[in-house]
Amino acid sequence: MTDFKESFYAAPGEHPETPTLCSAVFPVCRRRARAENWTLIEGTATWAEPGGLINAETWEHLRGEILEQVQAALPLDGIILGLHGAMVAQTCDDCEGDLLSRIREVAGPDVVIGATLDPHSHLTRRRLEAADILIAFKEFPHTDFVDCAESCVDLTLRAARGEIKPRLSAFDCRMIEVMPTNAEPMRGFVDQIKAHEGRGSVLSVSIIHGFMAADVPDIGAHIVVVTDDHPELGAYLARDLGMQLFDFRGRTKPQLLSAGEALEQAQNAPGCPVVIADIWDNPGGGVPGDLTILTKLALDRQMSSLAVGSIWDPMAVRICMSAGEGARLSLRFGGKTSATAGAPIDAEVEILKLVRNAEQSFGQSRVPLGDAAAIRIDGIEVVLNSVRSQAFSPDLFSNLGIAPSARKILIVKSTNHFRGAFEALASDILYVSIEGLYPNNPLTNGYRKLTRPVWPIVENPHAELESA
Ligand SMILES: [Zn+2]
Repeated sequence: MTDFKESFYAAPGEHPETPTLCSAVFPVCRRRARAENWTLIEGTATWAEPGGLINAETWEHLRGEILEQVQAALPLDGIILGLHGAMVAQTCDDCEGDLLSRIREVAGPDVVIGATLDPHSHLTRRRLEAADILIAFKEFPHTDFVDCAESCVDLTLRAARGEIKPRLSAFDCRMIEVMPTNAEPMRGFVDQIKAHEGRGSVLSVSIIHGFMAADVPDIGAHIVVVTDDHPELGAYLARDLGMQLFDFRGRTKPQLLSAGEALEQAQNAPGCPVVIADIWDNPGGGVPGDLTILTKLALDRQMSSLAVGSIWDPMAVRICMSAGEGARLSLRFGGKTSATAGAPIDAEVEILKLVRNAEQSFGQSRVPLGDAAAIRIDGIEVVLNSVRSQAFSPDLFSNLGIAPSARKILIVKSTNHFRGAFEALASDILYVSIEGLYPNNPLTNGYRKLTRPVWPIVENPHAELESA
């Protein structure tokens, strides 16, 4: 619960006017309710930065809170949920499926249920049976999370008014892959699925990318199609698109460099700043975010005009807060959470700036960093934060007094979301693969609950389908 309250918790009616990644349905619903004069009843909205399984008590408490709110609000014409879709609790592999099916039980068969999902989620039979409308963000980086909420709210309202009869169809692509949509072949594929929407009875098409760090039976990529009462057409389209996606396997990941290669390439680049993404030390994927390997290498090479955003270290931030801005001290930071996070860095540092309850932006959303400190070690500046977060936007640096466009190299911890806002200022973007805690290889991740054949564990998981 502390993690949820630290990241984002809004009791009914207390959601801010700005959306968060998975709660954009709140401001969208408010605007539509005002404009169209229908009654909106809000429930609780909350998220936590991922970090392993959610303890059973927290999950059951939050689920109970929302179910009570639904019960108290009845009778309802429609229910709209902003879900992530990859929550796993100690006692439940499919939290969103469980929540949706319990809401269906409480609300009855006639209420329209629509939900938005992050594509880095799972798709289960239970979710498909309980919901009428499921729509995932199409872009990775998720620059379209508000558009996705608009679509979900619009379709749910149209269904509640009896204008459409949404039916869900899905196809299991049987693959686990990282699929940024800023580059081909995914860029063209997303444009293609968008072109299907609104054509004939196709209302919406989504790609579920899956989340490879989970161990659940339904892990992997899926296509979801919402049609206006044409489930067979939806199933045909889902399969057709799903097999196209399967053909992209092994070709969607960006080129990955080693730490040394990335620093050297960035150093020798003609332009600046060069952004280096430490893609597996991404707190958004569930790791702590205090890996020091790249920062340590930059220090060893005595590099300069380089800024790191960010390293999660509440203890070091606390020490910096006590010392005050301008202080110089010996500080140990980073590398404290696991044996694979690299060694902690011990250095003489200067405290450049301290910010209480610091934030960064992610599109229209505000993301908390907790108390934060900018420190300098020779030519290298590091942002230390106390609430875990990946790097989303250059204001992660500028809010801490570091001018990102004036630096030669920016190191960020994020798989691809940074790209949405950093692309405009970066002269080049490099992706570096450093082995840490994140289980980034399906072949060696050691899934225990996976029972379906999926690529790359099985070379041709569709073989039995084709022969059938
Ligand atoms: Zn995602």
